[in-house]
Amino acid sequence: MFEVVIGLEVHIQLNTKTKIFCSCATSFGEEANTNVCPVCLGLPGALPVLNKEAVKKAINFGYAINATVHKKSVFNRKNYFYPDLPKGYQISQFEIPIVENGELCIDFDDGSTKRIGITRAHLEEDAGKSVHEEGYSKVDLNRAGTPLLEIVSEPDIRSIDETIRYLKKLHAIVRYLDISDANMQEGSFRCDVNVSIRPKGDDNLYTRVEIKNMNSFKFIQKALEYEIQRQIEAWEDGVYDKEVYQETRLFDTQSGTTVSMRGKEDSAEYRYFPEPDLLPVILSDEMIEEGKKIPELPDEKKSRYIQEFGIKEYDAAVITSSLFMANFFEEMIKNGASAKNSVTWLTVELQGRLNKNGLTLENSPIKAKKLATLIKRIEDNTISAKAAKDVLDFLIENDKDIDDAIDELGLKQLSDDNSILAIIDEIISTNQDKVEEYKNGKDKLFGFFVGQCMKASKGKANPAKVNQLLKERLA
Ligand code: ADP
Ligand code: MG
Ligand code: ZN
Repeated sequence: MFEVVIGLEVHIQLNTKTKIFCSCATSFGEEANTNVCPVCLGLPGALPVLNKEAVKKAINFGYAINATVHKKSVFNRKNYFYPDLPKGYQISQFEIPIVENGELCIDFDDGSTKRIGITRAHLEEDAGKSVHEEGYSKVDLNRAGTPLLEIVSEPDIRSIDETIRYLKKLHAIVRYLDISDANMQEGSFRCDVNVSIRPKGDDNLYTRVEIKNMNSFKFIQKALEYEIQRQIEAWEDGVYDKEVYQETRLFDTQSGTTVSMRGKEDSAEYRYFPEPDLLPVILSDEMIEEGKKIPELPDEKKSRYIQEFGIKEYDAAVITSSLFMANFFEEMIKNGASAKNSVTWLTVELQGRLNKNGLTLENSPIKAKKLATLIKRIEDNTISAKAAKDVLDFLIENDKDIDDAIDELGLKQLSDDNSILAIIDEIISTNQDKVEEYKNGKDKLFGFFVGQCMKASKGKANPAKVNQLLKERLA
C-alpha cells in the first residue's frame, strides 16, 4: 500500500496597477509588447525600483496565514537562459523571503480540518510569454515584470482531494484579501505540483517529480491521477529507481499523461546571488502595522454565518468558499429573504441552473436582490415553492421583474380568503350528496373536497388556506 506526498508551489499574480520594478501597466490582453519599457525589456543600464504596493500585498498575505513577516528581506538574481527572460535572470527572493512559516487549514465535508504548513512566500517578477506559431515562435514581454507571490507549501498534502481543497482555500484567501484576481484562465493563479509516493508507514521522503504550470483544477486532478499511477507501477514493477527521478514534467491535455520536460535544476545551477541593483527590503513599523489590517477571512466568516444565521456548517463552507458568493448571500438577507431559504435558493436552485447554462454567479442574470424578492414571494404566499422554480427557469432566459414574471406566467397563488371561499362554496353546492356523507361521518371525503378545490383553482390555491377554510365551512 502506498501513500502520496504532495507539496505545492503556487504563483499568484498580485493585482497592482503597475509592474514590480517599473511603472508599466499590468493590464491583461493588450497588444503584444506595448506595456514595456527599458527596465522590463532588460535594456543595459536600466535600473529597477521596487513597487511598494506589491510589498504591502505580500505583508497582508503573511498575516493572513499566521506567518512570520520578515522586517528585512532580500532580492536575488536567479540566472537562467530563456527567450522570454530578456535580462537572462529573474529577480526573486531566495535565502530571506518576505514571508516564512505560515499555515492554512483545509476543511472536509464532515466538518473536520487539517493544517497544511506554508514554508514561505516570496516576491518575484514574472517572465514574458513565448507564443508558438507554425515554424517559428514570438515573444511578448507585456507580462515580463508583473509582480508574483510564490507560495510554497510543506509536503503535508496526502491526496488529490487535499490538493484541490488546499488550492481552493488559498484561492479564496487571496480573493478575500483582494491581493490578486486569481483568474486561473488568465494565469493569475497557477501552480507547480510536486508529487512522490512511499510505502504506507514509511516516514522518508522519496524522489519527487514536479508537474509545472497547472492552471485548472480539473487538469491538476487528471495529471496527479496519471503521475501517481505511473510512480506506483514503476515501484511494483521494480523499475522505480530507473523511471522515477527528480525532473520537471508537463501535463499533456490531449493524451492525459505527464511527459518529461527536463531534469530538475538544483538551486546551485541558478547561481543565485543578491541583486546588486536593489537594496534589501526593510519594512517600516508603520507598514507592518498597516499590513496587519486584514479583512474577515473565509474561516471567520464561516463561523459567523453559523452563529448569526443558524445555517449548517456545510452550507456555510460552500457559501464562504467564494467572497462573491458570500456577498451575494448577505445581500439576499439584507433584502429580506430568510437565511434558510437563501441557502437553498442560492446554492442549489440558482447555482444548479447557472451550471446547466454554463454561467457563473459572477455573470448570473439574476442578482441577489431579485433572488431575495423571489424568496419573499414564497414566504408571503404569493407563489408556491414549486411555482418559484418555474419563475427562476424563466428568469434565466428573460430579463424581467419578479412580479412581472409571476404575472406573465400566471403563477400567482390564490391566498385571499374571499377568492378561496368562492371556490369552496361552489364545490360544496355542486356536491351536496358528498357533503351529506361527510357530515354523517365519512371523514375520508375531506381529501376529495381539497382535491376538487385545487383542481378548480388550477392548482393555484394556497393548500394550507384551502384546508383551513374548508374545515370551517364544513363544520
Ligand atoms: P525547489 O525550489 O527546487 O522547487 P523546494 O525545496 O522549494 O524545491 O520544494 C518545492 C516543493 O516540493 C515544496 O512545495 C515541497 O513541499 C515539495 N516537496 C519537497 N519534497 C517533496 C517530496 N519528496 N514529495 C513531494 N513533494 C515534495
Ligand atoms: Mg520551486
Ligand atoms: Zn516596464
